[in-house]
Amino acid sequence: MSNIHLHQITKSFGPTPVLRDVSLVIKDGEFLTLLGPSGCGKSTLLRILAGLEVQDSGSVWIGERPVDGVRPKLRDIAMVFQSYALYPHMTVGANMALPLRMRRLNAWQRLPILGWVVPGTRRVAAEIEAEVSRTAKALDIGHLLSRKPGQLSGGQRQRVAVGRAMVRHPAVFLMDEPLSNLDAKLRVQMRAEIKDLHRRLGVTFVYVTHDQAEAMTLSDRVAVMLEGELIQVAPPQEIYANPDDCRVAEFVGSPK
Ligand code: ADP
Ligand code: MG
Repeated sequence: MSNIHLHQITKSFGPTPVLRDVSLVIKDGEFLTLLGPSGCGKSTLLRILAGLEVQDSGSVWIGERPVDGVRPKLRDIAMVFQSYALYPHMTVGANMALPLRMRRLNAWQRLPILGWVVPGTRRVAAEIEAEVSRTAKALDIGHLLSRKPGQLSGGQRQRVAVGRAMVRHPAVFLMDEPLSNLDAKLRVQMRAEIKDLHRRLGVTFVYVTHDQAEAMTLSDRVAVMLEGELIQVAPPQEIYANPDDCRVAEFVGSPK
């Protein structure tokens, strides 16, 4: 079991507290959504989980070990960003291959000098290419591998960003408002795809959104966050039917 434990996490930027004593256990394999209005601290919490930001106090455990101070690359976590964060000058295939190249090839192997290739590189490169191609097919972007991100639609770019996270076969997927740049129709379609992806991969998803409908349809549990505090963590039906306090009721639009 590799549950994730967030234990009394606090974080301030300057004098402003952004996370106030956040404690949460994310169960192995569950789809948990951090739901809350813009500015309440969702991205900051996700970035702390990924190791991209350091908390002021409190600790993060993945499974049996604390990961405080462990570099992002070594956390067995992949993150999909709102902005997709693809490299515009690289092809889709190269974007997707990058995390595997960084992990499996050393600097000499990644940069052959004057055409001289370190022995063993070609075999690993071929394995990486096969993995990228397999993943791209599964996401229905196999035909786009030689294009640049600028030549793709928003939905396609989003799939590439998911693909780049998938090639590493991480134990945990973090997704920060991955659908917010898409139009309404595509958003609903991609929602179904993300849900399907979770079902197929069976790994933990921690998803961030300010969109109640998204949170309610996707999640096993929803963690409602307001002004840096977790107010209620429960399955979607319960949040809606039994909001813990009036701020939650107001935010999720339930009749309390
Ligand atoms: P959310 O993702 O819920 O919209 P964020 O975690 O991005 O919220 O931000 C929470 C608060 O922290 C906001 O007020 C934001 O302006 C502030 N903040 C986030 N990152 C930084 C930073 N690097 N420096 C200063 N303030 C920040
Ligand atoms: Mg955010």
